[in-house]
Formats: sequence, C-alpha cells, structure tokens
Amino acid sequence: MRKNVIAGNWKMNKVLSEATEFVGEVVNKAPESDQTEAIVCAPFPFLASLVEQTKNSPVKIAAQNMHYEESGAFTGEVSPGMLKDLGVTHVVLGHSERRELFAETDESVNKKTQAAFKHGLTPIVCVGETLDQREANETMNHVGNQVKAALEGLSEEQVASTIIAYEPIWAIGTGKTATSEQANEVCTHIRNVVKDVTSEETAEKVVLQYGGSVKPANIKELLAQSDIDGALVGGASLEADSFLQLVEAGK
Ligand code: PGA
Repeated sequence: MRKNVIAGNWKMNKVLSEATEFVGEVVNKAPESDQTEAIVCAPFPFLASLVEQTKNSPVKIAAQNMHYEESGAFTGEVSPGMLKDLGVTHVVLGHSERRELFAETDESVNKKTQAAFKHGLTPIVCVGETLDQREANETMNHVGNQVKAALEGLSEEQVASTIIAYEPIWAIGTGKTATSEQANEVCTHIRNVVKDVTSEETAEKVVLQYGGSVKPANIKELLAQSDIDGALVGGASLEADSFLQLVEAGK
C-alpha cells in the first residue's frame, strides 16, 4: 500500500517569523498516521529553523531546489550535502518554474535526482505539459520522456523511493485544476513508463503526486483516483489551516 504524500510548496513566500508560526501550528495539529506524510517545502533560509521545530513531529521539511555538485566554486548554490546535514529529508527537483525561468533541463534534473540519492535525500521530481502540448496531444509523450530522463541511471530501489509529481503547467496557480480523471490518466501513464524502465513491482511502489490548483475542496476526489498518491500544493499550502485540511484528507 502506497502512502499519501502531501507536500506544501511555499515557493518564494513568507519571512522567517511567518514560516515558524505556520510550522508551530502544523506540528501541534498534524495527524500521526501510517497512511499519510506531510512535507513542507520551504525556502533555503528557513530550513534549519524548521527542521529544529519539527524534530519530534511527523512533519518533514524539504528544499525546493539544490545543485548537483558536492561543493566548490558555484556562487549562490546549495549542495545536497548541506541539505542532508541540516536534517532536510526531501527536495523538489525540476519544478516547471525552475525549468521555465531558471533553465533547468531534463539533464540537470537527472543529475540532481542522482545527487539526492547519493546524499540520502528523497527527490520529488516534477513533470508536466504546457497547454500547447496538451492541445497538440503531446502530453503522454512529453511527460513520459521527462520521467524517463529523470530516472536514468537510478537503481530499481532508488526509482521505487522517488516521488514523482505530475503538474500540468496550465493548472499551476491558475485555479484551473485538471479533472481528477485527466490527472489520473497521466499518472497511470507515468506508472506504466516506470514499469517499462524497471519492473511492475517497482512501479507499484512509486508515489505519484498531482499538483496544480489543489485545494481542500478537490483533494479528496484526486486522492480517490487509482494512481494518485498525494499532492504537491502551492497556493493552498500557505495557510496552516488549509494545509492541515489537505493532510487530513490524506489519512
Ligand atoms: P498551485 O501550485 O497549487 O498554486 O497551483 C502547485 C505547484 O506549483 O507546485
């Protein structure tokens, strides 16, 4: 049985006091459950404090990006080892905003995915199509290629513990959610692609999240789908109340 993984992606929002207030509320109220995992994906400057704050709670802290290099002359970058050392458990890789605005490529996402495993971090790899690609019937092909590229060179065990977030770009921050059937159709395709490059057993273990205008009002229907095992949530993860409702729905 796969867990539901609910990850709140704050993006470039909040200051430290707001972040600690949010997490303070969430650690007290987040349900202890074998069925669901709650992750807060926070900006780099908050990570150390938030890890400290969540020490004795089921809530995990993720970074929203990292570099694949171990150390060296990469001004402004953050290494996987730095995140691991802080106690960060997960890292979001290849978010569409990073691919679009910061020149992230399938190749860099693959290098980062490998680097995450090397340092004991769980990658949350984002994939998804643009509206143009959807309208041109290229969704399955495009998303399948992104998944294959991201997983290249990983062992089956690593693939099994990779979290893949399917986020149609046209649904991010637009209020336009993919219908749960549309979302599930692509997630089923992703699981089949994973099966093709590994095995059925491995593919069955991979947690597949949907992301794109997820909110308390639509989370239950999304999670009820056969191949959706959680959500990567932007806007609706910024308020503790709403984030807790999402986590509750994953139980
Ligand atoms: P949204 O963002 O929930 O605000 O649409 C999702 C994401 O970008 O991860």
